[in-house]
Amino acid sequence: MAYVDKTLTCRDCGRSFVFSAGEQEFFANHGLVHEPVRCPDCRAARKAQRPATGEVGPTGQRTTPRQYFEAVCSACGQVARLPFEPRLDRPVYCSDCFSRQPRASTSHSPQY
Ligand SMILES: [Zn+2]
Ligand SMILES: [Zn+2]
Repeated sequence: MAYVDKTLTCRDCGRSFVFSAGEQEFFANHGLVHEPVRCPDCRAARKAQRPATGEVGPTGQRTTPRQYFEAVCSACGQVARLPFEPRLDRPVYCSDCFSRQPRASTSHSPQY
């Protein structure tokens, strides 16, 4: 299977860039089926910014240490460790009680 250099258009800046045969082979070897949508410049610029939010899985090496907040569970009274800051105007549940709650529209962890 021979790869040929391709010219793609960057989604961010609109400039065309070369998706070289070597890169295509690299992508194929790593099981990546999607062609890059951004030129190397924009990719580097995005990497330099804050880590991508929800676009790609957190495979980066820099993982922020998980911070926990302690609060008293509104249901069972135990100390619950929360991965988010508890809000005073909302009841707080430990993970056990939270999983027992009916799936209400929670404001955190939006899923699209
Ligand atoms: Zn670009
Ligand atoms: Zn509880």
